Formats: sequence, C-alpha cells, structure tokens
Amino acid sequence: MVAPAAGRLVRVTAREGRCRLLALDATDVVAEIRRRQGTDPVATAAVGRVALSALLLGALLKENEQLVTLRVRGSGPLGTLIATATPTGEVRALVGNPRPDIEQVADNGKLNVGAAVGLPGTLTVTRDLAMGEPYVSMVELQSGEIGEDLAYYFVLSEQAPSAVGIGVFVDADGEVRAAGGYLAQLMPGADEADGARLERAIRELPSPTEMLLSGAGPGEILRRIADGVDLSVREERPVRFHCPCGPDRAERALMLLGSEEMRAVREVPGVPGAELTCGFCGQVYRIEPDHLDRLIEEAHE
Ligand code: ZN
Repeated sequence: MVAPAAGRLVRVTAREGRCRLLALDATDVVAEIRRRQGTDPVATAAVGRVALSALLLGALLKENEQLVTLRVRGSGPLGTLIATATPTGEVRALVGNPRPDIEQVADNGKLNVGAAVGLPGTLTVTRDLAMGEPYVSMVELQSGEIGEDLAYYFVLSEQAPSAVGIGVFVDADGEVRAAGGYLAQLMPGADEADGARLERAIRELPSPTEMLLSGAGPGEILRRIADGVDLSVREERPVRFHCPCGPDRAERALMLLGSEEMRAVREVPGVPGAELTCGFCGQVYRIEPDHLDRLIEEAHE
C-alpha cells in the first residue's frame, strides 16, 4: 500500500484579524502531479505553481462554494494550465504541453516559467457554487510567473492587497524537492502600519523553497511573516492529490460529443468501442462496443 501524496496547509489571522496568512508545503503533491503529467523541469515548476495557487484559493472558498478552477492561458509554448481544488485540500492539475521547446533556465539562473507561460495571457478563476451559476473572474497576466499574477488577481478582483510567494524546486534529475509557499493579505480595517510591517517581513524572507528545504514547515513560515505576533487563531488541514474522474464522468464526456461524433469514434479501426484518457491523472476509461451503441442510441433520442 502506497501512502497518498499529501502535504499541509496552515491558515492564521494576525494583528487582531487585520492580516490573513496562509502557508503550505505541497512537495509530495506536486511530485505526484509531475509523475502523472510527465513534465520537464520548467513545465513542472509552472504546473506546480498553478496547483499551489489553486490550493490557496481553495482554502479561501466560502461555505457555499465547492470547487475552484484556475486557468492560466499564456501565449508561450506551455499552452493552457489548469488546476482545480476543493475546500478540503484536494487538488489536480494539467499542462497543455508537458515538454515545451524552450530553454529550461532563464538568464537569471531560475527556471524559465514566465517565458514558457508567455505574455500576453489571462488568468481565470472560476468558483462553483452548490447551486446556481459559478463566479468567474479574469485578469491579464502580469509576468507569467504565476505568483505575481495571483497577487494581481487578489488586488484587482477581490480588492485585497496581497503578497504571494510560491515556488517549486526541481533537482538535476527533474525530481520535485520542495513545493510550497505563502499568501499574506491585508483585511478590511488594516492600517498603513500593518501593511508596512508585513511588507518588511516579506522582503526579508528567503524564497519559499529555500525555507522548505531548510526544514521550515508552513507554521514556521507564518511565524516569520507575522513578525513576532502571537498566532493564536490557527487552522491546519492536509492537502493531497486527488482526481474526481470516474467511468460516469467519462461516459458523460462522450455523450457531449453527440451521436454523429460517437459513431465516428465507433468506426476507428483497431479500437473496439471507445477509449478516453483523463488529462489530469492519466486514468484510461474503456467503453465496450455494445455499451457505446447504447449511448449512441440515447444521444440520438
Ligand atoms: Zn482523472
């Protein structure tokens, strides 16, 4: 039995509720996404950052919101990146092109994520409700580095001054050694002094992956950001990779094609019935020929 890839997210309020701070370590989760997506280092960093962002957004969902989907559409060779996360910390992610034709390392010695995502582009956040239409909000990409783009989204769409630090450290063998980060937000009622203290603490902070690699967990990262403030309000939850796909969803996806397209699938030589592969987790769903015939009948009605 293999233990599921898991990590940890900690959320606190500081300075009498005027600051909201979240930090997470999702190293094993991003390692699992890399394994399933078959990504090279720059794509691992990009899809990992999108997954980390989705986990942060997921942790902020309100009671009637069930799922958040983050879509990053740039004009670079990675194509579209998508991650979904639940309020309970389950995340999955995919990247359009897992092995883009681009220099892996930028001039600054870091993984070339911004160029691989590519400007211009958009970042879209969709929050699904238990009932009714989802909330959708879209901003222009600022750098394609994902963390900065997410901070811009918070400022523009939610009027919440925010700092986002997220990172994925990939070693020479392409393995994920650290993935995580933090989100710091000023809440209504915060004053200039709160903002200045937060800014100073974050300026002096090492990168998220440096902190994780040195053994600092989410709690320690938050203590450093909060700058000596007593962090009494505290919520901690596990985060893990989970894909909610299944045979029923595969069948529904097939039905969306309509009867004409399904007949065309039926006629593909060498493949009896239909075969669908989940883009998030790689699970293959086979639909037997007689089952496919029934679906074509149903779609035709
Ligand atoms: Zn799946």
